[in-house]
Amino acid sequence: MLHHIDPDTLGPQGEHMTRAVKTCVHCGFCLPTCPTYKTLGEEMDSPRGRIFLMKNVLEGELAWSDALPYVDRCLGCLACVTACPSGVQYGELLTPFRAQAEAHRHRGLIDRLRRTLTLATLPYPARFRMAARLGQLARHARSLVPAPFRAMLDLLPADLPAARPLPELTPAIGPRKARVALLAGCAQQVLAPNIGWAALRVLAHAGVEVLVPRDQQCCGALALHVGEEAQARTLARANLRAFPNLADIDAIVTTAAGCGSGLRDYAQLFEGEPAPEADRAKAFAAHVIDIAAFLDRLGLPDLPSLPAPVKVAYHDACHLAHAQGVRVEPRALLRRIPNVTLIEVPNAGDCCGSAGTYNLDQPDIARELGLRKANALISTQPDIIVSGNIGCLTQIRSSLEACSPATPVPVVMHTIELIDRALQSKS
Ligand code: SF4
Ligand code: SF4
Repeated sequence: MLHHIDPDTLGPQGEHMTRAVKTCVHCGFCLPTCPTYKTLGEEMDSPRGRIFLMKNVLEGELAWSDALPYVDRCLGCLACVTACPSGVQYGELLTPFRAQAEAHRHRGLIDRLRRTLTLATLPYPARFRMAARLGQLARHARSLVPAPFRAMLDLLPADLPAARPLPELTPAIGPRKARVALLAGCAQQVLAPNIGWAALRVLAHAGVEVLVPRDQQCCGALALHVGEEAQARTLARANLRAFPNLADIDAIVTTAAGCGSGLRDYAQLFEGEPAPEADRAKAFAAHVIDIAAFLDRLGLPDLPSLPAPVKVAYHDACHLAHAQGVRVEPRALLRRIPNVTLIEVPNAGDCCGSAGTYNLDQPDIARELGLRKANALISTQPDIIVSGNIGCLTQIRSSLEACSPATPVPVVMHTIELIDRALQSKS
């Protein structure tokens, strides 16, 4: 328990926050798994150090400004949750702490501009597409762009695919085994629309009818990750209205680890809200499942062989492996593709540095983590690198290019795209 304050004064999520603090026994088992501790070597940049700092701020023993630089450098990757033998739910402390911190911050003009630009564009596909096109133009005058905005330009792909909106209904092929609603994913629709289409093809092949609710919005995870709880709740409310009655579907399926994790956070996000909405949020969150876990559970029919043998390296997205505990299922699906040899990557649980908007907010650490991840992947000499999160795919692709600018880099794609490629190779 926090010593000097009542959990009730911390708002509706106070119980979660105090439980996380109370459960930490300071053993330090989480330290070797924390990417920022491994990179910076500071106790205060470790999970144990950050819990200590947040506790002291909440008790009124430490100024917010003294703790925030360390809390800001946290990726929210939750590797510490996987490592913790005491079951500390670090995310349940970090997320509301970041939201409360916004009232105590003093941001400079450039920082405010960069943050506003990010939060006003990334979660909205039409705006993000327009901003990305402007960014591609601005890349030609990169040296004139203020330094804090350059990381945004560097992550943009050379070519932006054309918009390909998903149909509202895709019927199952053959007898219907399940009916799901799919989250289209905001940045993913712009950067890699094929992921959504591949998901529809594979799900239909597996006997699943797929609804794509027309009025759905960004899951809100990007906003929540950086403490903009009000924006996250507004987006979440729109999704609670847009998605069908839960009794009419078997699951809400996501193709991006960060979005899946964000939707599962709705239960905590609506705690303290009036009962009908809070209940819907809780039930909604319980229906959310990543596409790899869903297909593994449902059973995927036999897949045709890829035309030639390929070595595939699978990258664990933090918000799949650590936040949702999904590690085995994507590997099991990939092993079912004839002609695929799956390779394990050293330090598979380490974050690639993407982490929501982290690679925009903390570009130096993100770059270092990205290069480390790219080198680990390259060391396995894969033909193809797959992962289940658009943020990781973008970060890995740009880190691979930075690692070996002169040589061709392996193909980087979503897990579902590789399964779809096998399906397509039949025709
Ligand atoms: S492993 Fe868990 S209990 Fe131990 S220091 Fe880390 S968070 Fe605290
Ligand atoms: S969430 Fe990741 S970066 Fe943050 S303290 Fe835990 S392991 Fe370290």
